[in-house]
Amino acid sequence: MPKLSDRVGTFTDSVIRRMTRISDAHDSINLSQGFPDFDPPKEITDALAKAAKEGPHQYSITFGAENFREALARKASKSFGRKVDPETEIVVTCGGTEAMMSAMMTVCNPGDKVIVFSPFYENYGADAILSGADPIYVPLVPPTFEFDRQVLEDAFKQGVKAIIICNPSNPCGKVFTREELLFIGQLAEKYDAFVITDEVYEHIIFDPYEHTYMASLPNMYERTITCNSLSKTYSITGWRLGYLIGPEEVIENAKKVHDFLTVGAAAPLQEAATVGLNFGPKYYEGLKQIYSEKRQYFLDGLDRIGLKHTVPQGTYFVLIDISEFLEKEQFHGWTDLQFCEWMVENIGVAAVPGSSFFREPVNHLIRLHFAREKKTLDEALRRLAKLGELC
Ligand code: GLN
Repeated sequence: MPKLSDRVGTFTDSVIRRMTRISDAHDSINLSQGFPDFDPPKEITDALAKAAKEGPHQYSITFGAENFREALARKASKSFGRKVDPETEIVVTCGGTEAMMSAMMTVCNPGDKVIVFSPFYENYGADAILSGADPIYVPLVPPTFEFDRQVLEDAFKQGVKAIIICNPSNPCGKVFTREELLFIGQLAEKYDAFVITDEVYEHIIFDPYEHTYMASLPNMYERTITCNSLSKTYSITGWRLGYLIGPEEVIENAKKVHDFLTVGAAAPLQEAATVGLNFGPKYYEGLKQIYSEKRQYFLDGLDRIGLKHTVPQGTYFVLIDISEFLEKEQFHGWTDLQFCEWMVENIGVAAVPGSSFFREPVNHLIRLHFAREKKTLDEALRRLAKLGELC
């Protein structure tokens, strides 16, 4: 057989999604890949049933159905405090994943440097490889996950094309403050770089923290490419609906990248999801309330068991410190991946090894999520108590 591309030898499949397959094979409770086990709002599923009967069933416009883009533009205009043009400033993509890949392919030449905060959502590593970019990692330092401003500026000084910011941040749950974003924005201006944001958890945020949109900050709209998705906000991760918002010249070119990558997102799903985009503020307050309660419930449970964990400011992810376990004879010399595989088989709960998110050699953290119905969280906590007994 001829040789495959060099590119495919340089990254693995997603560990997050691999853990879901391992979990399913063992009938474990899957707290690894982050997605809810509850239904989307009924208005959305009713709209889907209607779309199944009445259509559309053929391609939408490649960069997104008109009514879907208009609804996105109305929502984003409120968030950004400026008018977003649905014709020239939005591309609808197949999930946030394609949004991020399209953004990277639109701005990066092979060899361009891109700043990525570590820990980072694992897709960014593969996005960099596939778009030819060269990541420079800047640590978000536990336990507060703040970054060192000088380290960040030193990274910018290396001549970067863009910085990627996941806010709220997967997997550490950090919510970037307005001051932090203003500082990053100033550096992006000073060193003339793009800011690519991943804001898929914009509505999963816990008091007293608040989400600041990079694109809403002074002078930032012109250099910010906002990647987002409907997956988390409307509990429709399987619908694969995402989007990019940015200045006209960027979007004009991102439209071409998107067109040849996927042609377009599913037309009937765009039609149905438009109903969600038109929900008023009450929906988002309700979502925040639901996840705030789940967070409290899950963290209280972890505390009772005695597992050390992070307290997310946003997102539905928690990092658990497994150092104590790794010091035991039974687990001596194990990787966090081995520990997660052991957990699936012996505890019946699936987690993601933290090493898949960190650039630094981190082996003592695993990621769990709490986007689960209360009864699932109860059962997961009951099983995790067996883990607690070992410490
Ligand atoms: N963002 C979710 C996670 O980190 C799911 C990502 C995905 O698999 N597309 O688990």
